[in-house]
Formats: sequence, C-alpha cells, structure tokens
Amino acid sequence: MYVHIPFCIRKCSYCSFYSVCADENIRRRFGNALLAELRTRVKGRVIKTIYAGGGTPTLLPPVFWKGFLAQAGEIADISPADEFTIETNPGAVTERELFALRQAGFNRLSIGVQSFNDTLLQTLGRIHTSYQAEETYRSARKAGFLNISLDLMYGVPGQTLKNWLKDLERIEELGPEHVSCYDLSIIEGTPIFKSINDGVLTKPDEEACRDMYFASDEILTRRGYLHYEISNFAHCKSYISKHNSSYWDRTPYIGLGPSAHSFDGKVTRSWNVSFLELYLERIRDGQSPTADSEIISKEQAALEMVMLGLRCSAGVDLKEIEIETGIRINKDYLKTMINNNRVILSESKLVPTSEGMLYADGDSVNLI
Ligand code: SF4
Repeated sequence: MYVHIPFCIRKCSYCSFYSVCADENIRRRFGNALLAELRTRVKGRVIKTIYAGGGTPTLLPPVFWKGFLAQAGEIADISPADEFTIETNPGAVTERELFALRQAGFNRLSIGVQSFNDTLLQTLGRIHTSYQAEETYRSARKAGFLNISLDLMYGVPGQTLKNWLKDLERIEELGPEHVSCYDLSIIEGTPIFKSINDGVLTKPDEEACRDMYFASDEILTRRGYLHYEISNFAHCKSYISKHNSSYWDRTPYIGLGPSAHSFDGKVTRSWNVSFLELYLERIRDGQSPTADSEIISKEQAALEMVMLGLRCSAGVDLKEIEIETGIRINKDYLKTMINNNRVILSESKLVPTSEGMLYADGDSVNLI
C-alpha cells in the first residue's frame, strides 16, 4: 500500500510531483479524508508493505500516523507486513517526531538528502543544508531507525564528478542501509527547466552523467552494497526495498491519496484525482477518488516486464513473458545486446550488466 501525502514546506526547483504548501487546517482535513479512503478501499485486503511517500509525509503529525497504522491493522490483514517506510526531508522533521514515528510502527526511513553540497542544494531549491541532512540522519539513528535509505541526485547543474565522489564518500562514512542515486530529470514546467532553457544553468552532459553513474556503481559495490536496481543500492539482501521491488515485479498495489496509482497485478491500472481540493470534495461526498483507469494490453504488459526487468539485477524471464503475454522477443536484437555486453542470457533468464541497466528503456522497446 502506497500513501501519497501531497504537502511540502516549499517547492523544489526540479519537482514535478504533485505537492502543495498547505496550512495545518488543510492538512488536518486531508488526514481525515485519507482515513476515510483507507476504510473504504483497504478493508479486508492483505497488505505486505506500507510506504508513506510524497510530498513530505512527516508534515502530518506522528499521532496521525499512529492512528493510521492502527486502523490499517484493524480493517486489513497486515500480519505479513514487515516493511513500514516513511519518507522525510531534512528540515521537515524533529528528533522527537522521528522517535514517535518509530514508536507508531515505521521501521524504515527514507531521507531526501539529494546532495551534501550546499551550493547544489540551493540550485535544487531544497529547504535544508547538508549539515541538516546529516543531523536528520543522526536523529533517525537515535530514534531507533535501523533501516535508513538516503536519496542522492547526480546530473545536477553545476555538479562535477569530483563533487559527486565527495557525496559518495559521505555515504561511505555514514553507512546507511540503503542508497538511491537518481539522475536528475529536467521536466518541462519546472523552474530548473526554465533556468536551463534561459542559459542560466547547464546540466552536466550525458557523458558526465554516465561517469557519475559508474562511479556510484563502482564505489558503492566495492563498499558492499548490492546494485539491485538502476538507481538503488542495498547494503545486503535484507535491505532491498520490498515495497519498491513489488512495483518492479508487478505485484498488485493500492495507492491512497491524490494522484496515487493502483494496479490489480493483472491488467488494470487506475489512479486517483490529482488535485487536493477535488480529492477532499470526492471523499466528503462519499464518491470514489479514482480519476480514471486503463487496461494494459498484452504488448504493453510484455514491454513493462522487459523494461522493469532490465533495470533490476534480478533480470527478467523471457519464457515467463511468452507464457503470460504470448509475445516473443526479437532474437536478433537480443544478440546485439549480448554482444555489446549489456545483458547476460542464462537459459531463459536475461540479466542486465550495470551498463545494460542504463539502456533498459531503449533496449526493451527494441526487444518487444
Ligand atoms: S521535497 Fe520532494 S516532493 Fe517536495 S517539492 Fe521537493 S522534490 Fe518535490
């Protein structure tokens, strides 16, 4: 179960997620609406992981989360669940709140650090400094979080390989259980897109971003992390994010909150209305917050299975795809991938190399 909390203290310059700045009154109304959605949509289900993301979920108070998790436990079977993640951002949570969130039942914390370089943090429009990021990490440890994930970004305007290596050094020193390294996407409509378009900022070129990607692969794997997905590293198997892995292996999921997506694990994907006011209105009037849904064709399903599989070290089983969707892959193109050292084929299992993960999107389109 994914829960989307659409609030942030301030909008970051690169952000295209649905989040707004809202006062306490709106946040309280939203919390009540979310509980109502939980009661109607989750009743009787079996939940294996809970992930509170956003936005900044810690802008809802720990007491809310305590009640939310307790209600989830009352109306659904959460006995198989052993991963309860909440995201936060440095500067948006106190040590006392972290302690209360741990007591409420969250056992995994994902912190949006993004960079340990203050100039880059300003470029990204983040609300915090690198000192605050480290403080949040230390507070989380004191609060009892034994499974912490830190998010970092590369490909940030002004960033060099040298800056990036320093970020990776800080990761080695701090030793989180999980690290996510994302290549910054420049999305049209965001302030950073405009700055780049106006020539005020320049994003590092493709070659520089590749170097940063391979530096994270080399340094973190040497440090003992498993590079289990293009952007994700876990310090050992038990720290691989179960929740995120379920998106990649097409496990059914339910998303609560504005703009959250749900998937039945077979052919139907649906999503909630994006706008907070509309979401609140629908819930208040006893209506479904679902905005729309789509039926995934066999071809689309095959494409998604290959695309997601080629981004993960677990790879993808071509025979399974053929049985499930009836789609056969392009064998000539597969040979090219193998010859270019982008994948290893063992019986019907196709496993990407670190380099191959970078080509997952293009290669999957050519394979199907
Ligand atoms: S904290 Fe995250 S969700 Fe909020 S504005 Fe920044 S990037 Fe977007």
